Amino acid sequence: MGRIAAILALGFALLTPAVRAQREPKGRFTDYPVKPYCTECLKRKMLGAEEKERPIRLMQFDGKDVLDFIGSRHLILIETEDFKLVSTVPGDRFAPGTSPRLALELPMLRERFPQIGGSKLPKLDRHQIAHLFALHMHRVKLEFWELFETRASSYSGIMNRKNKHEIYLFGSQREYDRFTDRFTGLQARAGQEIILHQDDAVGFVRPPPPSPGLDTWNNTIIHMWVHLLLECQVRNAYNRPAWLDAGFAHWWERRESDAINTFCFSESREVGNFGSGDWRPRVRRLVESGKAPDFANFADVTEISSIGNLEHGLAFSMVDYILEHKKKELRDYVGRLGAAERIDQSAVFRAAFKMSIPAFDEEWREWVRKTYSLR
Ligand SMILES: [Zn+2]
Ligand SMILES: [Zn+2]
Repeated sequence: MGRIAAILALGFALLTPAVRAQREPKGRFTDYPVKPYCTECLKRKMLGAEEKERPIRLMQFDGKDVLDFIGSRHLILIETEDFKLVSTVPGDRFAPGTSPRLALELPMLRERFPQIGGSKLPKLDRHQIAHLFALHMHRVKLEFWELFETRASSYSGIMNRKNKHEIYLFGSQREYDRFTDRFTGLQARAGQEIILHQDDAVGFVRPPPPSPGLDTWNNTIIHMWVHLLLECQVRNAYNRPAWLDAGFAHWWERRESDAINTFCFSESREVGNFGSGDWRPRVRRLVESGKAPDFANFADVTEISSIGNLEHGLAFSMVDYILEHKKKELRDYVGRLGAAERIDQSAVFRAAFKMSIPAFDEEWREWVRKTYSLR
């Protein structure tokens, strides 16, 4: 009896942490600091009397110098445990029916800004918008961690970087131009990714999107944020397949709103088949027509500018399939891609997915035929 009791006790002791680990993802959202450091909250005395002005470092420079140089009177900086978000995005209202996922963050936004009443997404000022985007980025990061079954302590530093992510959202072209001229030396219409080697931080800089509605902002922010999260997960860029990188960013973005579509950095500029709207019927028609390129032809490309528009659409759909049926294999795959040395793409794919690239291609096409409608 004693022995059985001991075994039972041991079993129970082993089970308890597992149960706790499973429950954790839900509760973790509340880990978002109720009052993250925010320059505007500080100014308005919304942070509590004990919170003093902190020194800020941006792009390895003194934050005050950076902010003075940009010369924006409305700049807001929000700092959480993972990222610094600099925003000059002006106040606005979301177009009705767009970005429904943002409603998940509204209750938390109302905790900070009780004046935001009602059940729909109201007009928000620039301070509230910056907080809404910060909350949403935080939630997407937690979903990402849930997918990979990780948490902050699974990584060294901040998601395998020594310092916090830095995100710059500029509401005016002039601010973007001044900032990029001085601090990044690069300009890109679609925005750019910044990697600060000295600081070992990573981030992105955005000019105002082509039609700068808040829904467009939201889509582009999430698209780029997911690129960064994946980049931190697989640090070795030589091992990061372009299809996975593009597929992840498109999949997460399309969940926000499929009315908008972002091709960022040096991604395919010809939108072709895959612009706005639901991509799934287009993928199905492409598969039916036999014109969908073979996965084997682009599976081992790691340069994202080297894959075309059709491949972007297929990559989105392959990620859709993997997230539906092969999460465990995906975790294994991404773990293997993180190797310090250059890997053999097909060998690693085969080891993680337990099938060859052509076999996966066939299986995925079959799923597309069964699952996606033609229109
Ligand atoms: Zn604030
Ligand atoms: Zn992208």
